[in-house]
Amino acid sequence: MEGRQRPVVDALRRPVRWLLDALFPDACAGCGAERTIVCDACWAAMPFMSEPQRLAELDVWSVTRFQAPVVRGVVHALKYGRRPEAAARIAEALARHPAADLLRATPWRIVPVPMHAARERRRGANQARTLAWLLAEAGCGTVDDVLLRVRRTGTQTALDRAQRERNVKDAFRSRTFADPQAAYLLVDDVVTTGATLTSAARALTDAGATRVAAWTFAAD
Ligand SMILES: [Zn+2]
Repeated sequence: MEGRQRPVVDALRRPVRWLLDALFPDACAGCGAERTIVCDACWAAMPFMSEPQRLAELDVWSVTRFQAPVVRGVVHALKYGRRPEAAARIAEALARHPAADLLRATPWRIVPVPMHAARERRRGANQARTLAWLLAEAGCGTVDDVLLRVRRTGTQTALDRAQRERNVKDAFRSRTFADPQAAYLLVDDVVTTGATLTSAARALTDAGATRVAAWTFAAD
């Protein structure tokens, strides 16, 4: 997973997705059944990841793998459209996740990875913040929306690992001092190389945090 380069696949993925959405706006991303983003049967068969991965010195918990079409469908719906339906599906997955009890054992300060303010205004919502609130509702801690994105970084899909690291370096800043006694859990929708999460984690440790882990819905 580290340093993987798939610029052609990544460059094609988004237009293909948009085209499918335009043609079949209400189809299940797994089987094509109508009138839902993902049907019950496909969601029940979603692959879970039960162990955290170590990415660039950060423990990253992910619920599932981005490669599964049902997962891509839900992430896309959370970002670009049917947010309540996607959020409900993710809440279900959180409740069924084998690592849920382990995650709940720590009273985390749950920190969404912020978007740049201009981008968030354009999109209308930050999916990482929606996920942070879902985690809090699932009993994993309290939301602490403490990070700012101080630099616009653009899309990273065509960049390799080293380019991503340079792109997101110093992109985040904490609004306040962090509590050195607290455990912080960074939250984002998808992790690829971990460059964004690592940069956000550095902003927290620069502010005084001593324990930082990360959670994403999907791992690419
Ligand atoms: Zn289906």
